[in-house]
Amino acid sequence: MYYKEIAGVKVSALGMGNMRLPTLQGQDNKIITEKAQEIIDYAMSHGINYYDTAYRYHGGESERFIGQALKKYPRDSFLLASKFPGHMMVKKEGGVVGFTSGLAGWPDNTVAGVFEEQLKKCQVDYFDFYLLHNVNEKSLAIYDDPELQVVEFVKKQKAERRIRHLGFSSHASSAATIDDFLTRYEGVFDFVQIQLNYLDWKLQDARGKYAAITKHGVKVVVMEGVRGGRLAKLPEEQTARLQALRPGDSAARWALRWLQCLPEVAVVLSGMTTLEQIRENVETFEAPDPLSQAEGALLTEVADSMLNWVPCTGCRYCTEGCPMGLEIPKIIAAYNGVKNGDFMARYDPAADPAMDPGRCVGCGACASICPQGISIPAVMAEFAGMLKLPRR
Ligand code: SF4
Ligand code: SF4
Repeated sequence: MYYKEIAGVKVSALGMGNMRLPTLQGQDNKIITEKAQEIIDYAMSHGINYYDTAYRYHGGESERFIGQALKKYPRDSFLLASKFPGHMMVKKEGGVVGFTSGLAGWPDNTVAGVFEEQLKKCQVDYFDFYLLHNVNEKSLAIYDDPELQVVEFVKKQKAERRIRHLGFSSHASSAATIDDFLTRYEGVFDFVQIQLNYLDWKLQDARGKYAAITKHGVKVVVMEGVRGGRLAKLPEEQTARLQALRPGDSAARWALRWLQCLPEVAVVLSGMTTLEQIRENVETFEAPDPLSQAEGALLTEVADSMLNWVPCTGCRYCTEGCPMGLEIPKIIAAYNGVKNGDFMARYDPAADPAMDPGRCVGCGACASICPQGISIPAVMAEFAGMLKLPRR
C-alpha cells in the first residue's frame, strides 16, 4: 500500500468505503457481519488505514458495524471518517432537525444529538475525519441555516478534538457550488469528497469540481471511482480494446489507475463487498502505476462512448421510499445494458415484479432523493415502453 497526506496525516491511497458491505439478499440494512468483518480484517492487515462511513449507510447500520469491527484494533491504527446527514434533513422548531420523506420512522433530533449518536454507534470518542454529507444546491438550506449553525457546531467539536479534520462530500450539480462553499468557509475544510472517475470527468463535470477544490489547496477524496461497479463491467467492445493494450488487467484496475494520475487525490474510496474485490484493489494500490498517455487517450475514448448512460451509481438511496418495492438501480443497470445493445432478449421483467419498470406509478419519491439527479420515473416509463410493457 502506498500513502498520501491530508493535513499532515498519513492516509492510505485506497480507503475502505462502508456503504456496500455484504448484506442479505434485498435487505440493505442486514449486514452479513462475519463476511464484512473478514473484509475489514483483510484491509487492516494490508495497510488500509482510512475507513469511511455515514449516518445513513445501510439504513444506519454501517456506523454500528464499523464501530464494532474496528474495536479490536488500537484506536490510533485506523482513521475513521463519518458524515453529518444534513442533506436529508428538514429544519423544525428549536434546533430540531427531522428527516426527509422516504425515511419514515427515523426520529427527529438535534445537530448535537445526531453527532453524539454517531460517536456512540461507532464506539469512539473522536472522528479522525468528519464530513458534512452531500453539500449541494438543496442541502445548503440546512448547512447555511443561521439558527442551526451546523458549521459552527462542527468547528467547535474540532476545537475540542472530538473531530480531528473537517471535510464535506458533494454531489452538487455545479462546480461553482463547491467553489462558493469553500470560499465562504475558507480554511475550515481540509478535504472534499466527490464522485470522480474517468466517465464523470465529463459526464458530471468532475473535472470542474476537481479544479474548484484544488485551487483552494484542499485535498480530494474520491467516491465512486468505479461508479458503483459500473466501470468494472464495460460493454464487450470496450473491454476488448482495453484487453488488447493490457491483457489480463480488469476494467476496474484501469479506472483506479486513471485516478492515480491526479496528484491532489489523497484517498480513493472503494465500497468493497467481497474478498476478491479487496484483494485486487489492494494489489492495484501496492505502488502508484498511473496510466501512460496512450492508455489515458484510450480511456477517454471509452468514456466518450458511454456518455449516453443514465448515471446511476447503485447507491440505493431511492429504494427505501419506493411504494412499489422496485429494484430501481438494477432496473437502470438493465436499461443501460439494453441501450448499449446488451441482453434485451434475455430481460424478463415478468419473472420478478421488483424488476418490472411497468409497475412504476410515477410518484417521484425516488427522484427527489437521488444524488445523481436522475429523472427516475421518466427512465422507468421509457424502459417500460422499450420493453412494450403496459403501464399499470
Ligand atoms: S416514481 Fe416509480 S420508481 Fe420512483 S418511487 Fe415512485 S413508483 Fe418507485
Ligand atoms: S437511481 Fe439515484 S438514488 Fe437510486 S441507486 Fe441510482 S444513483 Fe442511487
